[in-house]
Amino acid sequence: MKILVINSGSSSIKFQLLEMADESVLASGLVERIGETEGLIKCTMRPGRKDELVVKNATVVADHKSGMRMVVDLLSDARQGVISNSGDIDAIGHRVVHGGEDFHKPTVITGDVLAAIERNIPLAPLHNPANLDGIRVAQELFAGVPQVAIFDTAFHQTIPPHAYLYAIPYALYEQQRVRRYGFHGTSHKFVASECARLMGKPLEELNMISIHLGNGCSMTAIQNGQSIDTTLGLTPLEGLVMGTRSGDIDPAIHAFLVRNCSMDIEGIDAMLNKDSGLKGLCGMNDMRDIHEAIAKGNKLAKLALDVQTYRNKKYVGAYMAVLGRVDAIIFTAGIGENDEIVREMTLRGLESFGVVMDPAANNQRVKAPTLLSKAESRVQIWGIPTNEELAIAREAKAVLNS
Ligand code: AMP
Repeated sequence: MKILVINSGSSSIKFQLLEMADESVLASGLVERIGETEGLIKCTMRPGRKDELVVKNATVVADHKSGMRMVVDLLSDARQGVISNSGDIDAIGHRVVHGGEDFHKPTVITGDVLAAIERNIPLAPLHNPANLDGIRVAQELFAGVPQVAIFDTAFHQTIPPHAYLYAIPYALYEQQRVRRYGFHGTSHKFVASECARLMGKPLEELNMISIHLGNGCSMTAIQNGQSIDTTLGLTPLEGLVMGTRSGDIDPAIHAFLVRNCSMDIEGIDAMLNKDSGLKGLCGMNDMRDIHEAIAKGNKLAKLALDVQTYRNKKYVGAYMAVLGRVDAIIFTAGIGENDEIVREMTLRGLESFGVVMDPAANNQRVKAPTLLSKAESRVQIWGIPTNEELAIAREAKAVLNS
């Protein structure tokens, strides 16, 4: 069974083609700058193998449809390709950012499903329209091939009302569905399942805190395998300090900025999403640059690291209290997998709570699932690489087989 995973953004399409028999990647790549004067297609065929082939093509990509067509042409190229034609693809898994309250699991796409994704556009005005573009184009180009939507929010639909409600007038929830939804659900679910497998226990019996630290960051409290709280909220802005996003702030800062700094709501929204977080504090949003700057004595870079890791620790404490018993803490994504300093600072001082890191095990980039805690640690600490494409392909396969 070959599954094509599509992550369609406003001006880009990320794709990966997987052979599910052995879960190997046949091809993966990216179409960028769709609709701009110069587009770019990057595709790696047979990644990791001896005959790996990287194709780069700078060409105008007028819209998502022509971008997707170019991808199909590349994948089925007689000389370089990995399939003979689009008919070789058995199913397509689409990443969809916001499923609102309509979707709590991956779903085969029908007219009703498309309508529901459309209904949720106000909750994700940038992402859902782009995801819909990708789905519509794929439906046209792969007529008759089953298509499955995998929602970033779905894993968190088990969060109970006392954790998903904001303490604002209840009518805003009833009428506008203003509540915490959470994101990165596919990643949290994937690493939690991997961790359970590695611990040799059923996921349904484990309590975990999964920490996804990439450009976007979020933490999830998982009880008996289910998400019961998470840091991202109505939108992917709340909670932890991210690359360019602020995470938690006092909501009154909005009014302060309007009254005192001549800012309007659009400007504030852009600032909190694009110019805040690590970048807002020190001008850099890549943790590698931040470490380099710290080594050269940059005080603001050190402060940014301190603010991020302090916030991480604060939420670990909160979720330990929420869960009562914690079996494992998992680090994943770009920073979580690669940055031993952030991991160490996040969990430093939690030894009396049964969280004891093994400095030698932690002192590495995590390329495969790795236990980072000492044997005596009551809570196991794991670094587990996330793989959202594989997770989406597995979910799509499971839906189609059920
Ligand atoms: P992601 O969103 O999961 O792709 O993560 C991207 C972020 O991971 C980058 O912006 C960096 O801050 C961080 N990152 C990637 N590689 C490393 C590394 N080797 N050390 C520290 N941080 C890294």
